[in-house]
Amino acid sequence: MSGECHYCHGIVSGFERNHIVLDGHADHEVYVHERCAAGNGLIEKTAGPSDEMAITCPECGAVERH
Ligand SMILES: [Zn+2]
Ligand SMILES: [Zn+2]
Repeated sequence: MSGECHYCHGIVSGFERNHIVLDGHADHEVYVHERCAAGNGLIEKTAGPSDEMAITCPECGAVERH
């Protein structure tokens, strides 16, 4: 599964590291590069031993964990 980055319109593939697909939303899927999301303040590293991130959806503002 792949699509256009919300910000730079480059290709985002769900299989690539550093490419993010937000698919937990009812009526939209959002594709972003990690660097584009980070540059727009959407990514927050969560505390703890895992490298899980909290990502804010640029469309609806919901937070997804990856
Ligand atoms: Zn991008
Ligand atoms: Zn959303």
